[in-house]
Amino acid sequence: MSTFQSLGLRKELMKAIEDLGFEQPTPVQEKAIPALLASKSDLIAYAQTGTGKTAAFSLPIIQQIDEKSKHIQALVLNPTRELCLQTSNEIRKFIKHLPSVDIISVYGGDPKEKQLRQLRKGAQIIVGTPGRVHDFIRSNKLKLGQLETLVLDEADEMLTMGFKDDLDAILIATPEEKQTLLFSATMPKDIQKIVRKYMDDPITVNAGTENISAENIEHTYTVVKARDKYLALKRFADYHPDIYGIVFCRTRRDTKDIADKLMQDGYSADALHGDLSQAQREHVMKRFRARQIQILVATDVAARGIDINNLTHVIHFHLPDQNEAYIHRSGRTGRAGNSGVSIALLNTREKNKVRMLEKMIGKKMIQKPVPNGKEICAQQLLSFIDRIEEVKVEEAEIEPYLAGINSKLEHLSKEELTKRIVSMEFNRFLEYYQDAPDLNVSASGKRGEKRSGRPEFARFYINIGKRDNITPKDLIKLLNRNMEGHNFDIGEIDLLRNFSFFEIDKEYQSRLLKAFKNVDYKGRPVTVEVTDKPKRSGGSKFPKKRKKKPHRKGRSKRRD
Ligand code: AMP
Repeated sequence: MSTFQSLGLRKELMKAIEDLGFEQPTPVQEKAIPALLASKSDLIAYAQTGTGKTAAFSLPIIQQIDEKSKHIQALVLNPTRELCLQTSNEIRKFIKHLPSVDIISVYGGDPKEKQLRQLRKGAQIIVGTPGRVHDFIRSNKLKLGQLETLVLDEADEMLTMGFKDDLDAILIATPEEKQTLLFSATMPKDIQKIVRKYMDDPITVNAGTENISAENIEHTYTVVKARDKYLALKRFADYHPDIYGIVFCRTRRDTKDIADKLMQDGYSADALHGDLSQAQREHVMKRFRARQIQILVATDVAARGIDINNLTHVIHFHLPDQNEAYIHRSGRTGRAGNSGVSIALLNTREKNKVRMLEKMIGKKMIQKPVPNGKEICAQQLLSFIDRIEEVKVEEAEIEPYLAGINSKLEHLSKEELTKRIVSMEFNRFLEYYQDAPDLNVSASGKRGEKRSGRPEFARFYINIGKRDNITPKDLIKLLNRNMEGHNFDIGEIDLLRNFSFFEIDKEYQSRLLKAFKNVDYKGRPVTVEVTDKPKRSGGSKFPKKRKKKPHRKGRSKRRD
């Protein structure tokens, strides 16, 4: 393993690196920096955000800049405004001790006038998005005649975002003898075309895989029924109480829906998608960075450029349309020496995609079952104990109450007290998960529980009937209202004059009885009891149509 000292960087850069606290070069820096200092060759690096690639290309660029001249010597192209800002901020830290080196960022979405004013003042390094850079080249505002180095950063992302024409135009507008550096996590065909067309015998540096498939990312998948994906997501979130991760969805709508549901279910979550204004987006990101949000639900496009090094999980709620995006998503975790877990939530039809993904990442994916209630309760208990150990005690604030509290709890032994405190937290989860079904799908494609398409139903008596003017729809509403948070199946409903019968998924039996302990219907106290009274045979006045479709969903939003 080499050191920064051995790379041959000038003292002002070494000082900046020291200020930043970088101790050792990352693999891509170790390979690219000496190569770029030694020759003006073109270079291709397989590397994505998180590998230290910004320093890998910018340190050699800065070292070789002619400080006395103010003409543009290096142009770095990034796919998004966010990445432009990140890259230029990083470069600004490297040029901290070189006051004559200047950098300007130009990107869409900001008024052109301010950027043009800066351009008129001159700078040696420009960081920009392809659209805005091309725009300025076309209007003759950006003169690249003396450009020495062009960096295509996150080249694959720039192409996916539709910048191909802008890139072509920029590549044509820059001097032929310039040095071109291409950084990309993946090398799809269009990138290979760019390489063939515009690059000259490039050196290849392969460091991106370090962040993609190396030991620090565990690639896992789970197979569940499509309708159980959300429940499985919550199980994983409950199983990892300290989760700090991104849940990827395919569309803005799904992103919004899932984030909303998670928030309603009491999780610390929010959504990041293309319908947000820049200010809203920044607000969400600020909270996520500060860990005020634990789970960020995002689309691939919206999550581009998220630069957080300590995410514990990346969850693929939907697999991306393009396989390469799987690599980009997963690489958001396991960065900067941390370990991370990627969980792909697959429905039964998507299971065959595992092979393809494995081929792409060059690594086996581990099938992980959805945690069951018992496992979750155990994890939550451990986490609670950790929190008790770590909680900051505000001695002065709590002092005035302590004498009273101690005398009230005096009769309890330490063991008894511990049991009670722990139960306060534990009971909540125990109760919630007591009837939790096994969401895992067996080899035969069924849920791991006893069900076979139609759940096992329990039959209930309810003291409300037609004389209360109740319809089956009203009864379903009543069940849903009082069983909020449970996604249960409803079976047959039998309305009689003074009372009725209904069926629901047997797994929810005890929860239903609990939920109906204190319920009124139109001012009358409701009684619900389990009944083994058989269904009426024949002569039922219940509409035939409904009997043919005996089970519908309890449509509630909260927990399973
Ligand atoms: P990048 O891949 O350029 O987006 O860098 C990811 C993060 O790693 C940034 O926050 C850098 O400041 C940080 N970083 C870059 N190089 C090193 C290094 N050698 N040691 C520690 N952190 C680094």
